Amino acid sequence: MKKSFFTESTKTEIKEKERIDLSRIIKVKDLEDSQFGVLPSSILIPRGFENARKFMKHGREVKPRRFYSLGHASEDGRTPIQLREEAFNNIQNLYYCSYSIMPFGKDERKRKIALIECLEAARIFAFSHQFGKEILIKPYDDAFRVKKDGAEIIAKVPSRTKNHHYLEFKLMSVPIIDSPEKYRISLNFNSDHSCPSKRFNIRYKYLDDKESSSVINICAHEIAAYLKTIEYYWNIEKNIIPIQMCHFAIPTQETVNYYLKFENNLLIFDESIKPKDKLRKPNRGEKEIGLWALVAELDYDKTFYSKKSRDGDVADYNWSIK
Ligand SMILES: [Zn+2]
Repeated sequence: MKKSFFTESTKTEIKEKERIDLSRIIKVKDLEDSQFGVLPSSILIPRGFENARKFMKHGREVKPRRFYSLGHASEDGRTPIQLREEAFNNIQNLYYCSYSIMPFGKDERKRKIALIECLEAARIFAFSHQFGKEILIKPYDDAFRVKKDGAEIIAKVPSRTKNHHYLEFKLMSVPIIDSPEKYRISLNFNSDHSCPSKRFNIRYKYLDDKESSSVINICAHEIAAYLKTIEYYWNIEKNIIPIQMCHFAIPTQETVNYYLKFENNLLIFDESIKPKDKLRKPNRGEKEIGLWALVAELDYDKTFYSKKSRDGDVADYNWSIK
C-alpha cells in the first residue's frame, strides 16, 4: 500500500468522470479535473515492443552530447543543464524510454534516467518537506579524494509505501568542488541502493541481451537524495556545484500537473485485455512517452527546467490535484 500522497485514482474512480476520447497524447494536457481522456494503446508503445517493460529497456534514448575525455568536456564547458536543453529541444519524436549519460574513464556503464523517475523524485522531495519526513543526508566530503572522486553521501529517503519508513544508501561521485574534474565526477554518479526500479534489468540478465550489466538505471530515490544534496550544499555551504552539475531533469509545476492527469484522468483503450470495456490505467512506458510528448510540445524550459520565479520551490509543489 502506498502512502496517500503517492496514490493515484483507481480505474473505477476515473470512470466516474466525463469521458473524452483523445486522438493525440498531448491532448491529455487540456483535460479538466472532472474529465477523463481515453487514448488508444496503439498510439503509445510503438510497434515492435511486446510490452512496456521491453520498451523501457530497449526503446530509444535521448542523448545529451557525449564527451570522450575530461579535456573534451571541460573545453566545451557547458553544464549538464545546458546539454539537456540542447538534447530535449531537438527530439525527433515522442518514443523515448529515457535519456542517458555516458561516463568517460574506467566506469563506462551508461546511466539511464527515465523522466518518470525524475517526476517521482520530485514527488518524494515534496512529500519529505510537506509531511515532516525530511530526507536526511550525511556528506563525507572532507577527504583529499573528494577533488578526484567526488563526495560520498549517506542518504535516508522516506519510502512511498505505508510500512517502510526510510531507505538508507550511499551516493557516490557527487561533484562539490569547482575544478575541471567536476565533469568526470558528475558523469560517474552512482550509489549502493537497490530497489525494483533499478533491478529491472538485472532480473532478466540471462534472458535478455548482454547490455544489462553495462547499464545503470537511476531511480527516484537516488534523484530525491540528490535534490536534498543540492539543497544542503546551496543553503548551508553556499556551494553551487551540485546544482550546476546536476544530471537530473527537475520538472516544472506544469509538468507535475500534466503527469498527475496520467494518474487521475486517463485510461488506455487496449483491445488485448480481458475487461469488457477494454480500458486500463497507463503503464510506466506510456507515462514516459506522455512526458516526452509534453517536452516535444512545450520544449525544455517549460517542462524540465524548474524556475523559482515561475514554479516556486520544488519542495512546495502541489501534488494533490486529483
Ligand atoms: Zn530506488
